[in-house]
Amino acid sequence: MSSTGEPSFRQSVDLMFNRAAALMDLPAGLEEKIRVCNATYTVRFGVRLRGEIRTFTGYRSVHSEHFEPAKGGIRYAPNVHQDEVEALAALMTYKCALVEAPFGGSKGGLCIDPRQFEEHELEQITRRFAYELIKRDMINPAQNVPAPDMGTGEKEMSIIADQFARMNTTDINAKACVTGKPPHAGGIQGRVEATGRGVQYGLQEFFRHPDDVASANLSGKLDGKRVIVQGLGNVGYHAAKFLSTEDGCKVTHIIERDGAIANASGFDIDSVRDYIAEHGGVKGYPDAEFIEDGLRALEAECDILIPAAIEGVINMHNAQAIKAPLIIEAANGPVTAGADDILRNRGTVIIPDLYANAGGVTVSYFEWVKNLSHIRFGRMQRRQEEARHQLIVDELQRLDEHLGDAWSMTPDFKQKYLRGAGELELVRSGLDDTMRIAYQSMREVWRTRNDVHDLRTAGFMVAIGRVASSYRAKGL
Ligand code: NAD
Repeated sequence: MSSTGEPSFRQSVDLMFNRAAALMDLPAGLEEKIRVCNATYTVRFGVRLRGEIRTFTGYRSVHSEHFEPAKGGIRYAPNVHQDEVEALAALMTYKCALVEAPFGGSKGGLCIDPRQFEEHELEQITRRFAYELIKRDMINPAQNVPAPDMGTGEKEMSIIADQFARMNTTDINAKACVTGKPPHAGGIQGRVEATGRGVQYGLQEFFRHPDDVASANLSGKLDGKRVIVQGLGNVGYHAAKFLSTEDGCKVTHIIERDGAIANASGFDIDSVRDYIAEHGGVKGYPDAEFIEDGLRALEAECDILIPAAIEGVINMHNAQAIKAPLIIEAANGPVTAGADDILRNRGTVIIPDLYANAGGVTVSYFEWVKNLSHIRFGRMQRRQEEARHQLIVDELQRLDEHLGDAWSMTPDFKQKYLRGAGELELVRSGLDDTMRIAYQSMREVWRTRNDVHDLRTAGFMVAIGRVASSYRAKGL
């Protein structure tokens, strides 16, 4: 507990776990076994850079091994610490259980500000960190499979995969040691966008349930909803882009490290992203009001608030001031347990992190399966599917000719219908299905039990129940 009375990130996750577990009928010993983090490994290693040896500190935490491999991203940030990595690893356990990805929970971190290093230096550091973890089986296709998180992306993942392959030259499954690789290096189409895409699919599913929409004091569909996004990185950028270009949402505020920008008519997300890439922040973006204290923009009027940057940004200090009726936690742990209490009592609906950002691990699961099966999704059936569709189109064509002006095929029907699903379409379909089903499993608990008042508690209950069943199946 900090001096301000705010629990730490790990304590926050445990408090949320406890609230759910208290409503379940689990033996105390099993409850404790599920909650605790199995192991955290700390490594310090040196790398010679710019003529001197620099020492770095990294972590890999395994929260649960009820399924193996354990799965979870690697974060590069200057202030990564054990508490944070353990909290994130625990969330991974519950997240995987909720979306039925057969993994335990893990997470890693390296204390580093990647913006301070050149590309070739980051490669050296990543290789060395990977080496330290690989030689202890803390990266391994069967035991522990990392993925990108804050500060890391495709590049780091392909370096890790290459390092593993160099150290395990005869392992035919070597590529499955890490996910989030670029498609040309054993990755899968749609992984980069997956977490943001999952946020979009999660919101689409939420808006399919009018009762749930009404609980947030909202009505109608996603079209026209005003959205605030914090963090225009991988997750925030994709979520904001898809919601604004495909669902008709208006992104009215974007909060970044250097402040926030506001425009009531909504931003063109690609243009803001390009501006950030060029200028290093949002300050000075044309046709927008600049808000120096970016955190104040979290408190602006909107329909949907999407924190997609870091943990703890909605806390006991600002929770009362948050006006959004609906928050979707694209980041991990953006709402502290204390703020969660305040918001829940005020009737704010929170779509919780363990569900909201599970799109990343879901598509990582597809990538891992692809690597182990050594074949891309859709390769066997695509043309056969197209040939069958062709039969129907030929018949319709015949009808078209026969009926003359009385009936004709809509212009792009033929082209759309004929195209068999490639890898990207299949990945999106699998992700959409996963997000719908996981939401429905949470909402069923939320809607049917009168002692469950929020989606987070419901999500934890579904997840804990599944982890408990798998421990029981092992005889524990
Ligand atoms: P990222 O590094 O790509 O982007 C983070 C963005 O947030 C950057 O634009 C950064 O400038 C901004 N940011 C950082 N600190 C900020 C602050 N204090 N205020 C405002 N903006 C700030 O990271 P990401 O991969 O998009 O991850 C973001 C969150 O989503 C993290 O909580 C991460 O754990 C979670 N997440 C990521 C994935 C994934 O697939 N990448 C999957 C699940 C969850």
